[in-house]
Amino acid sequence: MIPALDQADRSHDLMQAESTWHESLAMAIRDPHALLQRLGLPLTLRAEATRAAKQFSVMVPESYLQRMQPGDLKDPLLRQVLPLGDELLDTPGFLPDAVDDHSARIAPGLLKKYAGRALMIVTGACAIHCRYCFRRHYPYNEEPRRLEDWQPALDAIAADKSIHEVLLSGGDPLIVPDRRLSELVRQLEQIPHLQRLRIHSRLPIVLPNRVCPELIDLLTRSRLTPIMVVHANHPREIQHDCTDALRLLVRSGVTTLNQAVLLRGINDSVDVLEDLSERLINVGVIPYYLHQLDRVQGAAHFEVDETIGLKLIEELRKRLPGYAVPQYVREEASWPHKRPIIAPPSNLRPSAKSAEQDSYPQMTQISQIEKGIA
Ligand code: SF4
Repeated sequence: MIPALDQADRSHDLMQAESTWHESLAMAIRDPHALLQRLGLPLTLRAEATRAAKQFSVMVPESYLQRMQPGDLKDPLLRQVLPLGDELLDTPGFLPDAVDDHSARIAPGLLKKYAGRALMIVTGACAIHCRYCFRRHYPYNEEPRRLEDWQPALDAIAADKSIHEVLLSGGDPLIVPDRRLSELVRQLEQIPHLQRLRIHSRLPIVLPNRVCPELIDLLTRSRLTPIMVVHANHPREIQHDCTDALRLLVRSGVTTLNQAVLLRGINDSVDVLEDLSERLINVGVIPYYLHQLDRVQGAAHFEVDETIGLKLIEELRKRLPGYAVPQYVREEASWPHKRPIIAPPSNLRPSAKSAEQDSYPQMTQISQIEKGIA
């Protein structure tokens, strides 16, 4: 259990820590060998980890590393960041651009997939490199870098009065320093038909001191209604300083939602998903989405069969109040919205591996579910 500390004190500590998020970022581990060494893991993994990291590099902030169990190769947080040889396998159906971002690009750095919203790829940088990331092959070097390069995207938003909400995404938009972020937000505020600013970020989870006073000011002083969508997949991610950061966002009046990805061996368990929802709700964050894995090249070993996902959601419904059960969805290119996964089992898409090939976590999962719903 997370120790219950005095929240006023903890919010104060958090405000004190605000100047250090750049330092925290600078200290992140970027070398697979260093990651193995720090956690006392077999160095025999070094060769495959190094090969996989050449395709998608390693990045793990210290704060996140400290939430892992040293010596445990199955640690659910480690599994999200440790490069493995599985990433180099070419699995049919798993593509570099799994959700067809390319077709949705209407200006440099600007994607429009859904009615009323547009998404800006603010940066290609992140504070953590999640091995299952659906944008792990995204051509970020083709997108704007300097503020002045954003003008075509801003013009496109200004020209389309149907757009009421702008999503800042990436990469991770909160890796951008507050001064630059403020300038971008200021320019968005000039567009009269924009009403809401949504930020998709994993930083409040993995680098919690990023939720600093400047960011809170930026979000709460804007004329645009702020919505923060964070990304936590496992309850052990929501501890201590992360809890404080989320509470600070919520208490500052920022609507805060979580999206998780259903990941083999990480959160494909009713108990884990229940605990995740409980911890989120307890700090005022709504569990918004549970995403079926986007079928991106290099991430097939994370996929959980949708039949399993449906059973997990069904079991969660029995255990939690309705507001704590995330919507189970997948993104499909050319669909006008995220597609709820509610299809009968006969229409479900099979996973990359058959059930017979499943390793320990999923088999454990199946038996847990069967016990629960038999
Ligand atoms: S933080 Fe988000 S964008 Fe960055 S690697 Fe992880 S999933 Fe991908």
